[in-house]
Amino acid sequence: MAELINSPITTLRGVGRARAASYAKIGINTVSDLLMHFPRAYENRGDIKLLSQCDPSVKNAVVLTVATEPRRTMIRRGMTLLKLRAYDDSGSCEITFFNQDFLKDIFKLGESFRFWGKVERKGRLYTMSSPAYEPCIEDKTLPSLVPVYPLTQGLTQKQLFQNIESVVLPLSEAMPDFLPDKVRIENSLCTLGYAIRNIHRPDDFASLAIAKRRLVFDELFVFATGLSVCGKQMKQKGAPTCADNDISPLLKLLPYRLTAAQERAIGDIKRDMKKNEPMSRILVGDVGCGKTVCAAAAMYIAVRNGYQAALMVPTEILAYQHYADLMPIFSSLGISCELLVGAMTDSQKKAVKAKLTATEKSSRLDIVIGTQALLTDNVSFAAPGLVVTDEQHRFGVTQRALLSQKTKLSHVLVMSATPIPRSLALVMYGDLDISKIDTLPPGRQRVSTFAVDESYRERLNGFIRKQAAEGGQIYIVCPAVEEAEDADGDLGIESVGNDLFIKEEHPPLKAAVQYAQKLQSILPDVSVGFVHGKMKSREKEDVMKNFADGKIQVLVSTTVIEVGVNVPNASLMIVENAERFGLSQLHQLRGRVGRGTRKSYCILMSDSQGDSAKKRLEIMTSTYDGYAIAEKDLAMRGPGDFFSGSSEDNIRQSGGVHFRLANLCEDTGLLSSAFDAAKKICGISPNLNEFPLLKKKVGDMFSLDRNALN
Ligand code: ADP
Ligand code: MG
Repeated sequence: MAELINSPITTLRGVGRARAASYAKIGINTVSDLLMHFPRAYENRGDIKLLSQCDPSVKNAVVLTVATEPRRTMIRRGMTLLKLRAYDDSGSCEITFFNQDFLKDIFKLGESFRFWGKVERKGRLYTMSSPAYEPCIEDKTLPSLVPVYPLTQGLTQKQLFQNIESVVLPLSEAMPDFLPDKVRIENSLCTLGYAIRNIHRPDDFASLAIAKRRLVFDELFVFATGLSVCGKQMKQKGAPTCADNDISPLLKLLPYRLTAAQERAIGDIKRDMKKNEPMSRILVGDVGCGKTVCAAAAMYIAVRNGYQAALMVPTEILAYQHYADLMPIFSSLGISCELLVGAMTDSQKKAVKAKLTATEKSSRLDIVIGTQALLTDNVSFAAPGLVVTDEQHRFGVTQRALLSQKTKLSHVLVMSATPIPRSLALVMYGDLDISKIDTLPPGRQRVSTFAVDESYRERLNGFIRKQAAEGGQIYIVCPAVEEAEDADGDLGIESVGNDLFIKEEHPPLKAAVQYAQKLQSILPDVSVGFVHGKMKSREKEDVMKNFADGKIQVLVSTTVIEVGVNVPNASLMIVENAERFGLSQLHQLRGRVGRGTRKSYCILMSDSQGDSAKKRLEIMTSTYDGYAIAEKDLAMRGPGDFFSGSSEDNIRQSGGVHFRLANLCEDTGLLSSAFDAAKKICGISPNLNEFPLLKKKVGDMFSLDRNALN
């Protein structure tokens, strides 16, 4: 039995090469992987309704007795229809199936089935189209909660169900439990076997909750253990001591004086970099508070002490912007600074990488600015000193771990503009020291914010014209349809029982391109440009540059401008379909204006009638403190929003941790228990050598080189 757990998925009946390939796409290669593939929802089929009680807008469970032999008709070539009648005490239902002739032999006269699907009413007759069905057999109770699995192309719900069915009972108890008994008992958790059995085949809501609690704890505990182990090892590594930290030459080049908060942050950085143990510090502060200059100071210190520095950002636009801002300053200090982004040719990239590895100091590149993707891929440094990561809203923990493996011995500074509530900070940055910039540079004015609907459109266009005429610049952000990729990544699944998942209806979306064209025709005297995620980097760069230079007055865009762009002349931010954005995202967007001396405005356009949308927009018009907004956001929407803009794929690519079950908002209690337990375990066995199964789990989650844990 136990061997079967680790055998390839193809050992299961009915799993051939093709299906195994589909499984592999979602990371399932072995039987044990399959057991760890958890449902994403459950259909409450135990709640049996009479036909007459069914709500036609949602799926219902009904138990019906077959009243007529199924009849097959050909509708057109290659398309057949199977029809039968079945009844309960409240009425009779016509059930149809398309192209499923084999069902003919399943639905026998007089037998009862539990059907699951939408029940509609046509006159006195009820109808169901291709419902799910299960035979009611005496002495065998049907499960009330039926799992719905995340799928991928080439896999059906039924196949997954059957494959899991064949192993879940016999094998779940044989799954080796990696959680130390002590931890399990202290936290009143069930065994792994119980948890796996009940997450797949729950008897009822109560056993599902017990199973889920254990599995959520597992995720958080493994994560916390990994953090704890990596953190300890980081500290033990040496780091380049940067004793010379006089930044006055840099400060002389700035057109302003540092705020007290900036000075404090830079003070923290100086102190860290002086030590021969790696700095791991996060610099947090609301948008526009001036984090970039603190990063520049850190980079300057690294270079002054003979080391190199890298600035990593999530988007190319942001890389260009930082480069444009920082390069002139560094170059007048005699420091070399270059870009590394996807839009460059291979030979350009190669040249930059070569300069980074140059042993000769005179030909060595001091500072590189680039996207995370590029800087974590095949880049090495001759004299690594500092890595700065900007605008990191994601779980960047493993990414940092990976990076620190590569750029051994360097200091790490992370900057985030997302004000993070404490409970999340613990998870996202649990291993970092924090510096907070809590004041904005002097002279900033509050960005007046208004929520309006379509009836305001004409006046809004007038306002755009007026702002442009007065020399201001305007951002318009649209949520683009083609960029709204389905985050949960499953294809071909019909909507799940909506008692568990409710989808909000949204007003039609405004696509950036058409929007820009239309606006240009309405405002012929204003120059309108657009930028969206699908454009080539070169094109994006040109548009952004034209906007920054004031050649474009109105920039229509998708959320690509969300992160970090700095155009001090911008005075108006318009967000279309504002109900689509999370509060923290809206706050980020609003932070793009009001960066200079101009009086600035943020207009949130929404036609949504939903209560939650209205409430959220109202928070935006009355609250200007990023932290207060973040707290409210977390309370209203859960933590997903803090990581938006990072599809699962992105997370995987960037080496981030992805929680399958844990909802960091609801689970803050478990979160702190998991962190406490992890600390204890690492105290007992710092390298986890006494807990080999746990050690393997941690290694898997952090996709780390196993050896790195030693
Ligand atoms: P963020 O923290 O959002 O990254 P930036 O570093 O982009 O903010 O700074 C926002 C703007 O504020 C920039 O135009 C920058 O030049 C300016 N700035 C930064 N520090 C100061 C300061 N101490 N006084 C005046 N302006 C400042
Ligand atoms: Mg910034």
